[in-house]
Amino acid sequence: MKRNMPEATVALCKCGEAHKIYGVRFEKIRDGQWKYTWAFPMKESSAKREGYDSTTIAGMIEPDEEYPGCPYCGSKYFMICSCGKLNCNLAIGNTFTCNWCGISGGVTSYNGEGFQGGGDR
Ligand SMILES: [Zn+2]
Ligand SMILES: [Zn+2]
Repeated sequence: MKRNMPEATVALCKCGEAHKIYGVRFEKIRDGQWKYTWAFPMKESSAKREGYDSTTIAGMIEPDEEYPGCPYCGSKYFMICSCGKLNCNLAIGNTFTCNWCGISGGVTSYNGEGFQGGGDR
């Protein structure tokens, strides 16, 4: 079994400032560890068509040195909601409201349980 290309996937993030979505490209470093390398604006309709909401990334995540940040607000970090979606630029004090499901709650750190992305293979 040989693998030349790094395993990569794309997850969707919604910007709390612009209220728009974008794709975030994740690359697997090793089992249970991913880095995010790139962010690009995307229409919600094309995201659905590409299936970017269908698989799960499980493990810890960290930004790549080259990661440019959110294309709208420049944030390099995400809030991961219990619904499994990414949000950026949302924390005001210690609460946030998810742009996907509308839940609001306390800020907790991500525990590596997994969230949704899609295949980029
Ligand atoms: Zn943003
Ligand atoms: Zn949510």
